[in-house]
Amino acid sequence: MKTSDYIQKSEQYLLHTYNRAPVVWERGEGVHLYDTDGKEYLDFAAGIAVYALGYGNTRYNEALKEQVDQILHTSNLFYNIPQALAAEKLVRASGLSKVFFTNSGTEAIEGAIKVARKYAYLKDGSTDHEIIAMNHSFHGRSLGALSVTGNGHYQEPFKPLIGGIRFADFNDLESVKAQITEKTCAIILETVQGEGGIFPGTREFLEGVRKLCDEKDILMILDEIQCGMGRTGWMFAWQEYGVRPDVMTCAKALGCGVPVGAFVLDEKAAEHSLVPGDHGTTYGGNPLACRAVSTVFDLYDSLKITEHVQKTAPYLEKKLDALVEKYDCFSGRRGKGFMQGLVVEGRPVGEIVGKALENGLVVISAGSNVLRLVPPLIITERDIDEMAEKLEASL
Ligand SMILES: *Cc1c(COP(=O)(O)O)cnc(C)c1O
Repeated sequence: MKTSDYIQKSEQYLLHTYNRAPVVWERGEGVHLYDTDGKEYLDFAAGIAVYALGYGNTRYNEALKEQVDQILHTSNLFYNIPQALAAEKLVRASGLSKVFFTNSGTEAIEGAIKVARKYAYLKDGSTDHEIIAMNHSFHGRSLGALSVTGNGHYQEPFKPLIGGIRFADFNDLESVKAQITEKTCAIILETVQGEGGIFPGTREFLEGVRKLCDEKDILMILDEIQCGMGRTGWMFAWQEYGVRPDVMTCAKALGCGVPVGAFVLDEKAAEHSLVPGDHGTTYGGNPLACRAVSTVFDLYDSLKITEHVQKTAPYLEKKLDALVEKYDCFSGRRGKGFMQGLVVEGRPVGEIVGKALENGLVVISAGSNVLRLVPPLIITERDIDEMAEKLEASL
């Protein structure tokens, strides 16, 4: 079969919920992807911030193959080895207390919302608690996660959503204070907003939210699904700020290609929320997914991923700043580490994304006008040079 046949079949049989680029991926190697015509692309999207270790890491692949031969699935009615090891590593890396594994980011958000509601319910027995979320946030597409996603366009056709959600402006502490009532049980936010357009939280804001939560016994939920797992140069973006969440959500690079997410609770939230019967999942935390998670943490350690991101990010920032300087279509850069956005003006960002793809560079967009760069975390200065050349050729 040819490339056009795969595309034709996909369009014929898949529900049309994505306008896909006309490329069919066949395999990956390091930081490069190859399509069904054998063309090579430099990947600065990593499957939307997922493939942090790049493609074809031998230790990762071997571990998964070994697990396939041992056991793939057990259910959570029993213990399994990879889940125990993965949970320990996630707790150690975060300094938080307890883990619940899910199959996706959106499910991790659902779990975090249930933790917050149960926490408040145990205090006063009432069932009308509220959650404050941020405008321009993104937390996923299931109804609970969509309810805290600050994007009216995504929400509108699916109303009524879950009740008791109030929205405030990210990086505007006064707007958060204005939404607090005696019913508020949680404030949910991304440490660095991703889909909304790459907006890092400011220190004052994150510290301010933490303080508010402490004063009023509200749970602070940090969504680290995109910005976590080393992307900002810290295992979790909040660690740079020294602002500790009560609940954290993870996914994307947590499995580096295998679908897995988690919500992680600090002691107070863990001690006073979900108990047996409150929450569950058939697949969540299965041996294959957790073997991936466990191996990912080992590889982050041995490859010193966070140190590498911290050391190499200034080079990426310098290159991107030079592009902003040189081209009128870029009006600025925002981001942290290997989570960067170029603000596009005067032309559709999709046009640049499409041209880049033709030139063998995979980049994606965020928000309405941001070119998003979320490469594998193993990129080198040479890869960054190649990215800049290919991007320039596309302008
Ligand atoms: C991708 C993303 C989600 C949703 O994760 P899925 O795995 O797609 O369900 C939630 N929050 C943030 C910040 C994300 O980037």
